[in-house]
Amino acid sequence: MGRVGSDMEVQFLPGVGPKRAELLRKELEVNTVGDLLRVFPFRYIDRSSFVRIADARPDMAFVQMRARVMRVDIHDGKRMSVWISDGTGEMEMVFFKGIKWMHEKLKPGSEFIFFGKPSAFNGRLNIVHPEVDNVPSGSPANTGAQSATDRTGTLTGVYPSTEKLKNAGITGKVMNKIMEAALEKGLSYEKESLPEWLMKQYGLVPLHYALRNIHFPKDMQSLEKAKYRLKFEELFMLQLSLLKQKYVRSRDVHGIPMPRVGEAFNQCYASLPFDLTGAQKRVIREIHTDMKSGLQMNRLLQGDVGSGKTMVAVLTALIAIGNGYQACIMAPTEVLAQQHYKNIQKFLAPTNVKSALLTGSTKTSERREIHAGLADGSIGIIVGTHALIEDNVVFNNLGLAIIDEQHRFGVEQRAKLWRKTTCGALPHVLVMTATPIPRTLAMTLYGDLDVSVIDELPPGRKPVRTMHVTEGKRPEMYQFMRNEIAKGRQVFIVYPLINETEKLDYQSLEAGAEEIMNKFPYPEYTTAVVHGKQLNDVKKFNMDAFSSGRANILVATSVIEVGVDVPNASVMIIESAERFGLSQLHQLRGRVGRGSEKSYCILMTGYKLSKESRHRIELMCSTENGFELAEEDMKMRGPGDLEGTQQSGLPITLNIASLAKDGIILNAARDCADAVLKEDPTLSLLKNQLLREEMKKDKYQIKDYSKIS
Ligand code: ADP
Ligand code: MG
Repeated sequence: MGRVGSDMEVQFLPGVGPKRAELLRKELEVNTVGDLLRVFPFRYIDRSSFVRIADARPDMAFVQMRARVMRVDIHDGKRMSVWISDGTGEMEMVFFKGIKWMHEKLKPGSEFIFFGKPSAFNGRLNIVHPEVDNVPSGSPANTGAQSATDRTGTLTGVYPSTEKLKNAGITGKVMNKIMEAALEKGLSYEKESLPEWLMKQYGLVPLHYALRNIHFPKDMQSLEKAKYRLKFEELFMLQLSLLKQKYVRSRDVHGIPMPRVGEAFNQCYASLPFDLTGAQKRVIREIHTDMKSGLQMNRLLQGDVGSGKTMVAVLTALIAIGNGYQACIMAPTEVLAQQHYKNIQKFLAPTNVKSALLTGSTKTSERREIHAGLADGSIGIIVGTHALIEDNVVFNNLGLAIIDEQHRFGVEQRAKLWRKTTCGALPHVLVMTATPIPRTLAMTLYGDLDVSVIDELPPGRKPVRTMHVTEGKRPEMYQFMRNEIAKGRQVFIVYPLINETEKLDYQSLEAGAEEIMNKFPYPEYTTAVVHGKQLNDVKKFNMDAFSSGRANILVATSVIEVGVDVPNASVMIIESAERFGLSQLHQLRGRVGRGSEKSYCILMTGYKLSKESRHRIELMCSTENGFELAEEDMKMRGPGDLEGTQQSGLPITLNIASLAKDGIILNAARDCADAVLKEDPTLSLLKNQLLREEMKKDKYQIKDYSKIS
């Protein structure tokens, strides 16, 4: 893969040499000068702005201080306190790691720049693991004026580093020198990667300007322009590669034209006991527009728990039926498949469409019958689990696949489904998810899917009141449960089950169940217990006891996270709520508030909570909007960790842009990519030649990505 820009090896830069070059390769994956120019500072020291220690406050996000080391204490070799002073006051810098190295560096009497988040500890401020930089040489004490190697600006880049790099003498200052050399030797070889017209239209500075100013900003504005250009480019190229596949596919992959809605659809629609919400109607229109287009539909349907996705799925399936095709609905778990199957029966009743349920526990004789019905086309809608993609399942003419909770299905498994089609064209695909994915992330994870959102709950839904309760208030909570049960309501109690095999989780569930049965004795109360280690029959029996209303209380692990629909249950108690992630908490909460009763979600925790846990719990108490929660979740944890998306992963690692923080730039980049491809889907116009070259790079050959379809 030939680089367009500077291929010169870094070892030939002044101040580098073979040894340091090897380290840069190992530690920062830098081979060429061009690579080096793309190692960007993660922050800048503004040499003109320091906080006086006396003015530092615990609510400041960060402080930068220029101070002298007064005293260093090491406690048990595990914790090092470094007391610093700038003449206005003293502050403690705390280290738990890298003590040896820091101890050597932070000699009493010498002056450094300390940067970090101040926090209050025992009534005093300290900073744990501050960043420590040398005072730029030549800068006079206290004023923070410009250094001897000054390049007119006052912002100095701070680069990612490692202990090994520092030990090899590649300190922040040396890195700045190396970058200066890299710019001098290499910048002129860096070829502009964006077309002139595009930079003009979207207000982007040229590459050379951007690289120069990202490393050595002339001033704040120049830095912002540089950052904007580099982030825009990164997000734009990513979107371009994703959308390009979509455009290519829509040219090449023929879909089954389904122009009608059909009789079954109308029969079902006419006998619905409620009106569809505006959002449901809009989404069904979007779906039908795809299905009749002659191209293959690849659509992601997002909607919060309870927003009525099942209804949309049924009507979509009936459109396929109305055009003479079969439809399948795949669910990730047996419980969920059963639930779907049960739910759709009532909607199918007014039609003469035959449906069936196929899961791992379908009996052999029944299974044979279903296989036959699928092969001869007499079964119109099949609901099931992975059992649907077993080799011996053959469809007569599968025209639509609806996949629920897609992230639990691997790409490979989806691909298997398509091989089952016998009618030439690929079936339409509707992927449904209740995991709210922030728009910016959805655009990138599913850049090649169209996205529909049900952003409106059916009318009459009562908000769920969410409360945080700590251990000491348990007796009051039990009393609250008794009151609700006396009103005829049912209660969920959920225990965390992070790891199926984790013994501790079962112990806490078992201990909890025992306590509940003690406090809520039979026969006055009936408690059902459900967890993953039970046999299927036992699980089903206990679950039925609760859904039929025989049991007042269901004690369960988070297996109930998906599926269970018990409108009479009005209280959801989540034990050790601090151990759940935001989206899981939100999913669990969605299990209540489905009936007409006022519902409650109680988050039980211990007294001591980490800052993040407390933030999560507070968020849960403050909003019921899944998308808002997902946005916050992403901000807190970064997109990589977002629940339910780990497996999908980002197709490309981002170097400078952040999906969580650069949503506005992402939107602009997405629109730009869309506009380019609308006009020139194959990037063959002369004015897009640079883009075509860029797309040839390995990292944009995203294999199988569009095979979600
Ligand atoms: P989701 O799958 O999105 O979690 P469901 O499709 O299970 O939501 O719908 C939740 C409940 O709301 C179901 O009992 C369903 O019958 C009901 N429902 C769906 N659409 C409407 C509507 N437009 N008006 C009233 N109730 C609805
Ligand atoms: Mg559902």
